[in-house]
Amino acid sequence: MTTLRKMQTWILAIKSNRSKLEQCLQHNFVEKNLGDPLNQRYKCLNCGGEIDMVAFYWYSQGRADMKSQLGISNIGTPGDA
Ligand SMILES: [Zn+2]
Repeated sequence: MTTLRKMQTWILAIKSNRSKLEQCLQHNFVEKNLGDPLNQRYKCLNCGGEIDMVAFYWYSQGRADMKSQLGISNIGTPGDA
């Protein structure tokens, strides 16, 4: 596979992942790549989209902020079923 073809395949995969994440009504992220802490990724069980650990951290912070702003505790946290 040529470098150009690899780049095109890679870009299509990124666009597909972004589309899945944007269309998901509620993410339910679980850890992927267990045992590899330097390359930790999270996959949503609802949409199949994947994010890295930095994106997961910020997503988790947003969820925590939303809970405190609404004064409720029954909103699932990432990883909840
Ligand atoms: Zn999702």
